[in-house]
Amino acid sequence: MIEDSYKHRGLRNQLVKKMRLKGIKDERVLDAIGKVPRHVFFNTALLSHAYEDKAFPIGEGQTISQPFTVAFQSEKLEIKPGDKVLEIGTGSGYQASVLLELGAKVFTIEYNRKLYDHTKDFLPTLGYKPIFIYGDGSKGYPARAPYDKIIVTAGAPVIPVALTDQLKEGGILIIPVGDRTKQMMIKIKKEKGKLIREEFDYFAFVPLLGDDGWK
Ligand code: SAM
Repeated sequence: MIEDSYKHRGLRNQLVKKMRLKGIKDERVLDAIGKVPRHVFFNTALLSHAYEDKAFPIGEGQTISQPFTVAFQSEKLEIKPGDKVLEIGTGSGYQASVLLELGAKVFTIEYNRKLYDHTKDFLPTLGYKPIFIYGDGSKGYPARAPYDKIIVTAGAPVIPVALTDQLKEGGILIIPVGDRTKQMMIKIKKEKGKLIREEFDYFAFVPLLGDDGWK
């Protein structure tokens, strides 16, 4: 039985206030952060840290992203209800849950078998039901392309061409690109077949592995 108490809701409201102070403006994104019970993604030892604005280990050397990073990427994606979204790097499923709260239809792909198995079983128990895919997402997921939006939640060495190819006209890709320790957040919008690029701050993600990621 997963408990979501008055105290947890209070901690989430504080987290939402923090996101606002850090510059997140989209009320729908703030609402979604306020709804997803982040503490249920944590093991007991780390439970008291669940509403800190930090990334935390989820096993297998991987992390649940920092709430600000999740809010930032979600805001830049400009999600509209019904958008078909591909997430690369399912991890804990927290980011996927936020996208589902925004009304997206979510395809999420994970390369680590243990995390894939765990999250595929766990997330639906919270009522969050994305389509789970096991495999290397560095080449996207052509079988269900094209997508309105693509979000990469691991640090890539370059922008894989396969990902921009799998975007619809008017579609948006958000991806951290850099070295293994820090990456610049990049937004690509496909407009009349052209790729319009916007650059933001640096973030620190675990590496995107696979054919078009780090070997
Ligand atoms: N979105 C996640 C969440 O909300 O918890 C956080 C993701 S974690 C920072 C990065 C994830 O990307 C890890 O679970 C890792 O196994 C996964 N990953 C790394 N390379 C991948 C690839 N080529 N395809 C799919 N997943 C990959």
